[in-house]
Amino acid sequence: MVVGPKDEFEDASDDERQEQGRSEQEEDQAQYEQPSSWEDFWRRTTAQHDEAMRNAGKDPYKPWEPADGKWGSKIAFGMPVDKQHRCFGCGTATTTRFECCQCLEIFRERAGRAAGDDWERAFYCSHECYKGDWEVHKDRHGPSKFGPSKMDSRIHEFDAAKGHGALWDAEELKRLNFVSCKPVW
Ligand SMILES: [Zn+2]
Ligand SMILES: [Zn+2]
Repeated sequence: MVVGPKDEFEDASDDERQEQGRSEQEEDQAQYEQPSSWEDFWRRTTAQHDEAMRNAGKDPYKPWEPADGKWGSKIAFGMPVDKQHRCFGCGTATTTRFECCQCLEIFRERAGRAAGDDWERAFYCSHECYKGDWEVHKDRHGPSKFGPSKMDSRIHEFDAAKGHGALWDAEELKRLNFVSCKPVW
């Protein structure tokens, strides 16, 4: 038995073996091809990670930093680091009461799959501002791609968020659908 993290190196169960149609002999061979030590495994995955970063035009040795938000404040975990929320549409100072539902869905989806994602959550000052901004804003809900980051070397592809424009009202705890905000996706 090779020493390593439990899940990585544990024997496949009989069920698993049957499912994948592998014989016990092939299984032994697969075990043999496992990295011989944790250090080998670590060295190899680090090299793969660095290569993926460089292929995406990023510097693997640059420490992770908060991204720039739409209005210039630094963004971490979808929110401005200085907690000075500004309306995504008009830029005026606002609260976190009205939030674009599609952007929130996208944020949750991405946060669960791409570590260190720099997606910014979109808060609005009013219903009117959201409706007025819709024609421009809706494009933000299109399909996108997130390249490798310092914390995650995979490339993630995300589907478009569908449906009419809607705001989540964090005070009334309800979703406000606007039929005038026609979906594009
Ligand atoms: Zn506004
Ligand atoms: Zn949105």
